[in-house]
Amino acid sequence: MIVSFDIGGSAIKGGIARSETDIVPLARRPTPKQDFADFVATLRAVVAEAGETPDCISFSIAGVVDPDTQALICANIPCIHGRRLAAELEAELGYPVLIANDADCFAMAEAMSGAGRGHRIVFGAILGTGVGGGLVADGRLVNAAGGFAGEWGHGPIIASFAGNPPAAIPAYPCGCGQKGCVDTVGGARGLERLHKTLHDRELSSEEIIGHWLAGDAEAERTIDVMVDLVASPLALTVNITGATIVPVGGGLSNVEPLLARLDMAVRSRILRKFDRPLVVPSECKIEPGLIGAALLGLKFAGERGHAA
Ligand SMILES: [Zn+2]
Repeated sequence: MIVSFDIGGSAIKGGIARSETDIVPLARRPTPKQDFADFVATLRAVVAEAGETPDCISFSIAGVVDPDTQALICANIPCIHGRRLAAELEAELGYPVLIANDADCFAMAEAMSGAGRGHRIVFGAILGTGVGGGLVADGRLVNAAGGFAGEWGHGPIIASFAGNPPAAIPAYPCGCGQKGCVDTVGGARGLERLHKTLHDRELSSEEIIGHWLAGDAEAERTIDVMVDLVASPLALTVNITGATIVPVGGGLSNVEPLLARLDMAVRSRILRKFDRPLVVPSECKIEPGLIGAALLGLKFAGERGHAA
């Protein structure tokens, strides 16, 4: 048995996993953000609720483990940011601890029990507030020990002109320290930023999507530019990884006409030609972080020879 966690900025969700198809969620608890002792106590309470000693515990976290230092980069939860969290929790709790990025857990969940089932190489893309991604090959997460693989959202790569006719797009500064990242234009925040640049109007991403679906010309222009900017780096990602399916999660993935448009644009820009959708909505709509972390934990425990 393993206990998996989805650690978010507001809530900690736990679950008990006995097999890939037997994952039971537990009660959610508020995330202690400032006090590490409270954070550990909350984890203990979740494990106690599970009622038995787990073979390991596994985490989905909106952060990245630095593969060189094992330090967690997680700016929105200060009490765990910068810590060698796996080692510290192993010392506190006494069983193995696995930590994975939430986009990686999403990719794992989609590969094993979502839209990626039956595909050898699955690239899971997040179009949420920002842009993220994870890569699963032959059922294994390419990043299981932490690291930055799959992060197609960062790097100075977006085009200077986009849309038809082309509009000049500034290299917006990104939280990662670079300029011109896909993250600055590809998620909900990016949509709002592009709309402001193109039309000098501040609307929420929901408003822009709503206007677009109602046939508004300004919103159509924004969507056209956004799809143009995002499709090229995603097509490059598909060429590099050889992914044969790209499940998309995050808030914008719920806008099916937007995904359909992105899918057509990506398929027209990749080398391999597919006569079926490649960029598709995710299927694990409920708790992909929890499920992905559970799958990683089960795999880890199984490989250590425990009866998971
Ligand atoms: Zn960036």
